[in-house]
Amino acid sequence: MIHEISSATRTFLAEPAQFLVNGKWRQGSTGEIIECVDPASGQQIGSAYAAAVTDADDAVEAAKVAFDDKRWRGKTPSERQGILLRLATLIERDAQILAELETLDGGKLYGSALNGEVPHAAETFRYYAGWVTKLGGHIFEPSVPGRIYHGFTREDPVGVAALITPWNGALVSAAWKLAPALAAGCSCVLKPSEMTPLSSLYLGRIMQEAGIPDGVINILPGSGVKIGAHLVRHSTVAKVSFTGSTGVGRQLMANGAENLTRLSLELGGKSPVLIFDDADLDVAIPTAAEAIFGNAGQVCVAGSRIYAGRKVYQRVVDGLAEIALNHKVGAGLDAASTMGPLISHAHRERVRTMVDRGISDGANVVTGGACGSDDGFYFQPTVLTGAAQETEIVQEEVFGPVVAVSPFDSEAEALQMANNSRYGLAASIWTGDTSRALRLTEDLQAGIIWINDHGIPELAMPIGGVKQSGIGREHGLEGLRAYTETRSVMLRLK
Ligand code: NAD
Repeated sequence: MIHEISSATRTFLAEPAQFLVNGKWRQGSTGEIIECVDPASGQQIGSAYAAAVTDADDAVEAAKVAFDDKRWRGKTPSERQGILLRLATLIERDAQILAELETLDGGKLYGSALNGEVPHAAETFRYYAGWVTKLGGHIFEPSVPGRIYHGFTREDPVGVAALITPWNGALVSAAWKLAPALAAGCSCVLKPSEMTPLSSLYLGRIMQEAGIPDGVINILPGSGVKIGAHLVRHSTVAKVSFTGSTGVGRQLMANGAENLTRLSLELGGKSPVLIFDDADLDVAIPTAAEAIFGNAGQVCVAGSRIYAGRKVYQRVVDGLAEIALNHKVGAGLDAASTMGPLISHAHRERVRTMVDRGISDGANVVTGGACGSDDGFYFQPTVLTGAAQETEIVQEEVFGPVVAVSPFDSEAEALQMANNSRYGLAASIWTGDTSRALRLTEDLQAGIIWINDHGIPELAMPIGGVKQSGIGREHGLEGLRAYTETRSVMLRLK
């Protein structure tokens, strides 16, 4: 059954979407248009006006004015909490529209957008709404001989925050940044990926309706190298929170250096899945398959390297291959589809050539390994074995439904192979031996580790990378503190 797009979404898509600066929707100083293409068909489904550098300057200025006059951060914590809670409810009210936009613009399965991503975005605002009334500093007793002080710290919003998001989870990425930034009291300029601007622009409407004041939230679709880089170099931007590839993250660090701009970088991954001989394979195999085939592998924590104990290795390979073969790859609007397309033709070409190079480097194709139907940007779920650990297919992020499976003979070998990567975003350990699992968590180089699970996001648990998977954390109190400066006050008492 093909899901019928609602009339509200059709109306939204009928005209190029305008963008938000200082509470006004505008077409941009150049009138340049971004064409929004449905990855499931390759056809244009809508468009958005692209922001120009002058629009970005206006947005930053508006955010700065809003920050300085305290129209947002000056509200009581309870008022701000109430607005963020209202926003969560409005996201749920418009869940169908947002899910349809995520499916049409980002190639997601409609069911998972409607029941997974959209409610999670709402929950993110709800979670951080709760922190607004709890954030505070500490009291200290300084140890200066002969003097008595009342010492305390404050957690103040850092200022104007530029939030730069990728295409692979446009709405959720935006929520993961906007919610803590607003909870902290910052004013924001959101730059969604030029590949998937629509859900962020729609979110902007709801944010206005919820009562976020003009200028506090500005949304600028546009090119990364023009608008993104301009925001990063802007002397008024106090904080940049970026989610995207490691290569672009590196450029951001260089560009932010001039103003010593605070940076949070959520970058790429090549996350290992360690399946020991004593694992519950009935759970491990389908979860590992979902960890790499979910969202067609376009997930930062995708389990793209599987290491299986020698005794269970063949069962793991066979189980993954069977699941891969049973996937129904198709449009996200088709309820029968279990895996959608890749985001673009160019990205599919990248995935295809990486798999081809992996094969010429010695990997064996158990199943998949080629493009799917040419009506959209489909790629078959792919299981590879026999790839040497130093080859590109094992070392580099493919960002597609491609997994390399390798056997191991000991815990030490599993650990060594898992850590043999420049990335360190996520990992999972599958074993019935809790002591072994806990022992491994100390040495496994990953920002988040699941034991007997993979890929489950939890708003209370900080997430982010070690090594070249990033700097800083989202979620939890750490995620909120990414948008605050801790300042100390020492009051000398008489
Ligand atoms: P990307 O790095 O190409 O782009 C990300 C964003 O940065 C886009 O908005 C883009 O327009 C912008 N950008 C590009 N060049 C820029 C520049 N020079 N200055 C400032 N901004 C610039 O990434 P992508 O292809 O959109 O997303 C996929 C990548 O994101 C993958 O590597 C994936 O692992 C990563 N990712 C990481 C996480 C995480 O939490 N660690 C989550 C999702 C995605």
